[in-house]
Amino acid sequence: MIIAITNQKGGVGKTTTAINLAVYLGKLGKKVLLVDLDPQSNLTSGIGFISDDDSVNPIYQGLSKSIYDILVGKASIKEVFVLTKYENVHLVPASIDLAGAEVELVNAMSRETILKSALDEIKDEYDFVFIDCPPSLGLLTVNALVASSKVFIPVQCEYFALEGLGQLINTINLIKKRLNSTLEIGGVIMTMYDVRTNLSKQVGDELQKFFGEKLFKTIVPRNVRLSEAPSYGKAIIEYDPKSQGALAYEGLAKEVVKLKKW
Ligand code: ADP
Ligand code: MG
Repeated sequence: MIIAITNQKGGVGKTTTAINLAVYLGKLGKKVLLVDLDPQSNLTSGIGFISDDDSVNPIYQGLSKSIYDILVGKASIKEVFVLTKYENVHLVPASIDLAGAEVELVNAMSRETILKSALDEIKDEYDFVFIDCPPSLGLLTVNALVASSKVFIPVQCEYFALEGLGQLINTINLIKKRLNSTLEIGGVIMTMYDVRTNLSKQVGDELQKFFGEKLFKTIVPRNVRLSEAPSYGKAIIEYDPKSQGALAYEGLAKEVVKLKKW
């Protein structure tokens, strides 16, 4: 099952969800591959690969190849993926040169299906492959949507949460029509939910109305421990497994496993 974690808005919890959902699924015994498709490489660093922060072009310790090499045809997934410190979780890391890939690939043959072809080689070895998308609907995200059968959409329960969702759904429908007929919205995840505000509740109600049973029951609260963990290169299971954020992602992982009858 290949799942794109997408929302063209930045800062809604895509990367946080990718890391923590994957790690809890791994703990439940599922084999998971994380694909970092964002040039900012937050997933790669957030899961524990250390970079030389002073560099404009950070080199991650222990990593020599990245998703960029796959997209430009210089390497296969098998040559690029690495183990993480978390049980059952593997990673295809990103690097800053990915920022140039969209431009470099403009004239490439079958440029929308490169990631799909690459993942075809290994997808049967995993229960879940999660693709952490960049905050845009450009060629990288199109590659993710073409490669996936489901889309998970994290929505930040704040002002303007629903803004842009229409455009995302149009893009999903277009890809479904033209390039990947099996693509479906697998689930919508409420993130950074603040129980103290009416606003979060309002956003939740709207999402419920619009997405119905596609809305995950598990709500990810705003939780400062979740925001601190990535700067230590730790998933929440390691940083603070008793925090509300940890409990939420553990719950989400269980919900996702149940859904797998899909
Ligand atoms: P995206 O990948 O969509 O850009 P991130 O997962 O990187 O979003 O989250 C954006 C910022 O918000 C990060 O600094 C992250 O640590 C923080 N964050 C994410 N989820 C939560 C949460 N539930 N509570 C508090 N902070 C969060
Ligand atoms: Mg991100």
